Amino acid sequence: MSNYHIKNLEEYFQVYRKSVRDPQNFWEEIAEEHFSWQKKWDNVLSWDFNKPEVKWFENAKLNITENCIDRYLFNRSDKTAIIWEPNDPDEEAQHISYGELHKKVNKFANVLKSKGIKKGDRVCIYLPMIPELAVAMLACARIGAIHSVVFAGFSSKALATRTNDADCKMMITSDGSYRGNKTIDLKGIVDKALEDCPGVENVLVAKRLDSDIEMKEGRDEWLQPLLDEASDVCEAETMDAEDPLFILYTSGSTGKPKGMLHTTAGYMVYTAYTFKNVFQYKEGDVYWCTADIGWITGHSYILYGPLANGATTVMFEGVPSYPDAGRFWDVVDKHKVNQFYTAPTAIRSLAKRNIEFVESHDLSSLKVLGTVGEPINEEAWHWYNDNVGKNKSPIVDTWWQTETGGIMITPIPYVTPVKPTYATLPFPGVQPAIMDENGNELKGNQVDGRLCIKFPWPGMARTVWRDHERYKTTYFSTFENMYFTGDGALRDEVGYYRITGRVDDVIIVSGHNLGTAPIEDAIDEHPAVAESAVVGFPHEVKGNALYAFVTLKEVGESRNQDNLRKEILQQIGDKVGPIAKPEKIQFVSGLPKTRSGKIMRRILRKIASNQTEDLGDTSTLLNPEVVEKIMKNSL
Ligand code: ATP
Ligand code: MG
Repeated sequence: MSNYHIKNLEEYFQVYRKSVRDPQNFWEEIAEEHFSWQKKWDNVLSWDFNKPEVKWFENAKLNITENCIDRYLFNRSDKTAIIWEPNDPDEEAQHISYGELHKKVNKFANVLKSKGIKKGDRVCIYLPMIPELAVAMLACARIGAIHSVVFAGFSSKALATRTNDADCKMMITSDGSYRGNKTIDLKGIVDKALEDCPGVENVLVAKRLDSDIEMKEGRDEWLQPLLDEASDVCEAETMDAEDPLFILYTSGSTGKPKGMLHTTAGYMVYTAYTFKNVFQYKEGDVYWCTADIGWITGHSYILYGPLANGATTVMFEGVPSYPDAGRFWDVVDKHKVNQFYTAPTAIRSLAKRNIEFVESHDLSSLKVLGTVGEPINEEAWHWYNDNVGKNKSPIVDTWWQTETGGIMITPIPYVTPVKPTYATLPFPGVQPAIMDENGNELKGNQVDGRLCIKFPWPGMARTVWRDHERYKTTYFSTFENMYFTGDGALRDEVGYYRITGRVDDVIIVSGHNLGTAPIEDAIDEHPAVAESAVVGFPHEVKGNALYAFVTLKEVGESRNQDNLRKEILQQIGDKVGPIAKPEKIQFVSGLPKTRSGKIMRRILRKIASNQTEDLGDTSTLLNPEVVEKIMKNSL
């Protein structure tokens, strides 16, 4: 039996048991059979969580682009690797074949070389979702340069901080970007950022808007003429298994973003293997992940995981609301998408809109739906399942982190029976543990506590860039010999996992441990409610109490706030228990979000506890105006 493609539940359990009994052998077989190596490893794994140090496939040699592109040139050179769907539906989509991608990546790699970029140099990529973004990342990997992609919605200050932290020599950007009916002056943002980034020597500029921008003599150059001149032959650099592939900053939901460093072989094996199974990708399928490549979801599941499987992956430049709230479904219909992967924030915002936006499109191509990024509340889960999946496409609720490189706890569609709001079972090779506050592992079922991982997996980040101490204290110091995720979780009576929220947000009220997700779930079920966030604040009697921030589907509905409050409290009492009733419910026009669309509870916690002088690192905050309004208590 091959371990690579799991087809039923019995196989899952067999494969899982094997992956725990003999992890080395398990991963070795997968690595051996499904990837192309310039030289095989001497040792599959060495690890020490105290240092912490983890090495997979020691001394193996490879290049990830040979695995993502070259090995497909013989039998599927004409197969589409990337379908690029532009912001404007009237602009033509592009289909880039594996053969074309090979040429584009080689040309770009030669341009990088001609600008003096060498193995180990850091290149910052600040581009919108255009093909050049994917090509630039692969070109870096081709020559062994380390890419650091910064989401092109970040401010100049956030860009400068990340560029300096990673000590980047080069910046790759564009003359602007489209976002719905707006355009953004990316080059202007770069110019401002670079005033504070003395280490950046060259700026390559892709043309997207044809806008009139300033080019700084001696530093900035248009990309296209350089590509036109470059040779389309570029031998792949020989990389060691543990050579760095990229740096990527976390979302900053809980604090200052961390520059996670991912290395080559383990990351490749892990993203490829998870992609194949979690999406049950079959030859000929069209797969679409709506994330921006600027987040880990995009790195692992738009680019590397799909391409390492020779898949067809959709890259979408636009937003879900342009030209109208039916755009996602229009794209699914247009490209006959088979696997669709998005985030709860997108689902909740589309669920607020008229159902006609969904129903007017043919979604019959869909086989698998996915969600990632935050706990999905039950109401949103059902909306997604009923209206998009038509009750027949399983939803994979995938739990993972920038740090984990790939999906960790998830159903396998058509294999694992799903359960709303549950990430269900660990992926093969993943050994979760639930810990109590005193550092004891809670064995058996029906337990809840802090989620840790007991054993290394190939996709894990190896360090925080140039801050190994932070890596150690954040992930390996809370519990002995464990990777600590920072998330809370429960294991139910059959052994399914549910992520209950961030540990920082788990609130102890009158001696009870309360996760935020189940309470928010109960609030969101009220028909008038769009979204909610629950946080804790100090309380004289209870020690801690709960504060709920609630947005309504229609602002007009806040007319009778007292009744609404009563109904919501009733619902929480019925669904979770009276202990979970918030002390305060504030109706707000919006919730503070990170630029990746996650609720920033740490800001709400500050507001609830009346500590608004210092809101902490707000470089990833999308909507400061909302925070102002909440503080003024205005809708
Ligand atoms: P930072 O680490 O900077 O505070 P972040 O944790 O939001 O930011 P990411 O790595 O983008 O950065 O997100 C990982 C986190 O997202 C997880 O730790 C978890 O809290 C949450 N998450 C991701 N997927 C799921 C899911 N399916 N269910 C519940 N929570 C999820
Ligand atoms: Mg995190």
